[in-house]
Amino acid sequence: MSRILIIAEHDGKTLNPATAKCLRCAQQLGGEVSIAVLGSQVAGIAAEAARLSGVARVLLVDNAANAHPLAALQAPQLAQLAAGFTHVLGPSTTFGKDLLPRVAALLDAPMLSDIMAVESPARFKRPIYAGNAIITVEVDAPVIVATVRIASFDAADSAGTAVVETITLATPAVTHTRLVDVSVQKADRPDLQTAKRVVSGGRALGSAENFSLVYALAESIGAGVGASRAAVDSGYAPNDLQVGQTGKIIAPELYIAVGISGAIQHMTGIKDARTIVAINKDPDAPIFEAADIGLVGDLFELLPQLTAAFQSRASK
Ligand SMILES: Cc1cc2nc3c(=O)[nH]c(=O)nc-3n(C[C@H](O)[C@H](O)[C@H](O)COP(=O)(O)OP(=O)(O)OC[C@H]3O[C@@H](n4cnc5c(N)ncnc54)[C@H](O)[C@@H]3O)c2cc1C
Repeated sequence: MSRILIIAEHDGKTLNPATAKCLRCAQQLGGEVSIAVLGSQVAGIAAEAARLSGVARVLLVDNAANAHPLAALQAPQLAQLAAGFTHVLGPSTTFGKDLLPRVAALLDAPMLSDIMAVESPARFKRPIYAGNAIITVEVDAPVIVATVRIASFDAADSAGTAVVETITLATPAVTHTRLVDVSVQKADRPDLQTAKRVVSGGRALGSAENFSLVYALAESIGAGVGASRAAVDSGYAPNDLQVGQTGKIIAPELYIAVGISGAIQHMTGIKDARTIVAINKDPDAPIFEAADIGLVGDLFELLPQLTAAFQSRASK
């Protein structure tokens, strides 16, 4: 029987929905699922994890040293917790991609990235070539460490009553890495990776000032904000908003791409989006091949009109 350990992603206050999506993947493996919650004063998060359906145990490591999710510090702790487990899973987010490969190295276990489907406890599907092909891989090892492509799984629901076990681990003596500073973007809008609606802007915005048109449209419909790499590289939007192969992989119900051409590296980040709306002045832009709804026109005319229309609907 598989024994699966999921590392919880959280911000110190609430559990990130990515954890419930990892759980759905774990449920498809079959077996017993535990969730590890590492943090400082995170009993509330452990309780939240315990409410997820189908979880047997929550392993709570509550330690002031874990106040920030420093991968170099958390990996040795997770490696200790992993004893006796057949699978160690985490989300394929910035957090998981930083942490899980270190755990695999410490356990001398194979690292599998971006599980998008489970065929058996040892056989998985994952994307390759920027999502242009899907490969089936079989892993023959006593422990498999893997990241889960959260855009490929629905969140497990919250009808569980798991036991929370508090575990004390010695704080690893990590000298090569220390936390210097945390700079958090103002988070008054939905998180890009879990938002149901996302508005993204591309190079066509032309400046950081003009990018405020994207923020305004997003705000009018309660959406998260994303950006193409060209917009990020040009300094119009911060790096953590980048959507695509080298950015975030997202699966919103609605994705509005504004002034984005639709390069393959961008599209790989939104291939699981339910409805794609493209706004582009070039009727031959590749984005229109993937879009469900296309608006051909100048974004500087269309965006203020759309924003005003949504705002007036919201005020009625
Ligand atoms: C290894 C690698 C990894 C990459 N990873 C990523 C990634 O993760 N994410 C990503 O996005 N890209 C990525 N890229 C870059 C990608 O190839 C494209 O260069 C990038 O996506 C282009 O961004 P864009 O669509 O904003 O810009 P452009 O390709 O310049 O497109 C701008 C679009 O805006 C339209 N437009 C211009 N003016 C207006 C207007 N006034 N109104 C309406 N429309 C207008 C144009 O018709 C055009 O279609 C990667 C590239 C490489 C090589």
